[in-house]
Amino acid sequence: MGFRPWVHTLAHRFELNGYVLNSTLGVELEIEGSDTQVAAFLTEFRAHPPELAQMDEILEEELPPGEAREFVIRSSRVEAGEFVLVPPDIAICPACLADLRDPSNRRFAYPFTNCTNCGPRYSILRDIPYDRPQTTMVEFPMCAECAAEYHDPADRRFHAQPNACPACGPWVEFRDRAQRLAERQEAIALARAMLRAGKILAIKGLGGFHLACNATDDAAVRLLRERKRRSDKPFALMAANLAAIEAFCEVDGAARRALQGIRRPVVLLPARPDCAISTAVAPGNRTLGVMLPYTPMHHLLFEDGGFQALVMTSANLSEEPIVYRDEEVADRLYPLADYFLLHNRKIHTRVDDSVVRIFEGRERSIRRARGYAPHPIDLGMPVEQILACGGELKNTLCLTRGHYALLSQHIGDMENMETLALWQETLAHMQRFFRIRPRAVAHDLHPHYLTTRLALEMEATDGLERIGVQHHHAHIASCMAENRVRGKVIGVAMDGTGYGTDGKIWGGEILVCDYAGFERMAHFRYVALAGADAAVRQPWRIALAYARDAGLDHPAFLSAVSARQRQVVETMLDRGINTVETSSCGRLFDAVSALLGLRLETNYEGQAAIELEAIAAPGIEDPYPFDLDGAAIDFRETIRRVAADLEQPAVAAARFHNTVAAAIAESCRRTWRDTGLNRVCLSGGTFQNLYLLRRTAQSLSDDGFTVFLHSHVPPNDGGLCLGQAMIAHAKLSY
Ligand code: ZN
Ligand code: ZN
Ligand code: FE
Repeated sequence: MGFRPWVHTLAHRFELNGYVLNSTLGVELEIEGSDTQVAAFLTEFRAHPPELAQMDEILEEELPPGEAREFVIRSSRVEAGEFVLVPPDIAICPACLADLRDPSNRRFAYPFTNCTNCGPRYSILRDIPYDRPQTTMVEFPMCAECAAEYHDPADRRFHAQPNACPACGPWVEFRDRAQRLAERQEAIALARAMLRAGKILAIKGLGGFHLACNATDDAAVRLLRERKRRSDKPFALMAANLAAIEAFCEVDGAARRALQGIRRPVVLLPARPDCAISTAVAPGNRTLGVMLPYTPMHHLLFEDGGFQALVMTSANLSEEPIVYRDEEVADRLYPLADYFLLHNRKIHTRVDDSVVRIFEGRERSIRRARGYAPHPIDLGMPVEQILACGGELKNTLCLTRGHYALLSQHIGDMENMETLALWQETLAHMQRFFRIRPRAVAHDLHPHYLTTRLALEMEATDGLERIGVQHHHAHIASCMAENRVRGKVIGVAMDGTGYGTDGKIWGGEILVCDYAGFERMAHFRYVALAGADAAVRQPWRIALAYARDAGLDHPAFLSAVSARQRQVVETMLDRGINTVETSSCGRLFDAVSALLGLRLETNYEGQAAIELEAIAAPGIEDPYPFDLDGAAIDFRETIRRVAADLEQPAVAAARFHNTVAAAIAESCRRTWRDTGLNRVCLSGGTFQNLYLLRRTAQSLSDDGFTVFLHSHVPPNDGGLCLGQAMIAHAKLSY
């Protein structure tokens, strides 16, 4: 991140001799001069590091005087088997953006402009050390001018590995399915024109392909939705600038920082009612996911584009991984897009856009990928070398070494061969980068997860010690790890599905745990569901089970369900055919959503709960009654009261949220009384629900609890691997 040139400049300023280099241990520098000069250097060194630099630790040692007569930047030193950090991909910096817009600059309108402070990193890196021959830029020998910049310590592009210009670097082309229509600057102008004309484009980006169309063009967005067969799952947007975003969404200071930061994630923001964005972008949602341009090409697309926002959704069919190879374009993208904006810089590792939201003035991860991966999580303690496989949905994997947890980028739902292949590829890649040879493999207890089978294989073939970790214990350990919490805590894990130690499906859990183990203090009362897998996509089945359980005979929503279907489910429930008992919080939300007639069938994960949160009326304070009987948190009375409140669904939705928060708080108070523990960790995918999170965190802090939340790691299953690794480490240490 321009660290060595900065040290070089600083050394010259204080007239010091010596050297600086990147080594596997970090940055190593030797400085030689008078005591006052050295002291002045060190003061400045500590006080004003470059903006992107993050210094974890500074180790100092006094050395006998040497022979140095000048200060030099030496080449990187990589010791075999040693560990180096791999930088994530960074959004274009202001200086490069100025070059891009300056007609007198040789990089004017050049879509691959970058420097030491910005540009592609992880996505183009094939092996370490991070030097040009190890990146996909090896195919583009630098011209004399670029090479001069690259070798000049005073230049912003000193050792900028992807350094390029129009004379020597990659270029873009615009094509339809049959032929190339334009290249270089003309290609981007044509792409803009086609977007204006309502066409759907496949655009090759930094870590993969996007599908794009004008987000205010309703017909275009609907056509894209139809082609992707993605039904209602929200599309991400890219907006021209901050002012455009502020026209569509409510943006506060923390959101502004996240949007404009160097990592440029998609930020989930409250949408302004009746904004110009097509309602087909995020049906049934009150939030929009928006990001700002992060590559020079994105900026060029928006310049005089005549559109304020583009849909920028990962180019893939339904749940397959994002398309990233040029060879896949014909097969996989021809059916989806009308035109193609391509370039010839290869993507080595695919990296999706990251997704965050803002809570309590802080960025909170939902999907951790571009700009974040593979930056390590500093655990603040040394851990064994472990591979943690993650879960089934929103999978990520984790390798540990030293005091670092290295989380992969978002891999996806482990439900098809493509995602499995990506998982294995990512593991191999990260093991090579970080020189990690795990001695143990941690996995979820669910016997049918693909990741469980992978762990079993690794035990058999590689002799790794295999450690099964309970799903919700892993969620809480993940929250503990990123907050560096030690000792015992109360863990509140609220999510959809996690395999329990009793073989049932858990998901509304109050635990007492540390890394070494957990005790289940309380959980949502078990309810039997009919046809576990079908039920997830058909919340009416779930609602029927919860209604019968609560003694409701004829809930109103059933009028929308055929008598025959209803009978099938009732028979299954009566006879216990293909039923599964669950304490899931997510299923309770699904049930209430259907009970209120909001969502009887879903077409993406979490839809029923998301739409229930979206309609919840503000300003409603009271909860419904619930029972807390021993270890069972019983919502039968809640269900009966929801069913009696059908004529005011927005109020019922708010009261229901309040009830779940109140039940969690009450259960935590009892646990405090019984155990003396007053630190609570909140985790699990249901806490992506901001209404529930706000309400729960608020009542717990009002009661005097210290509450820990996720920020760097997602609360959903994308954060599981971190917890699995910490628990495995604790087991190995015994
Ligand atoms: Zn730059
Ligand atoms: Zn050049
Ligand atoms: Fe989970």
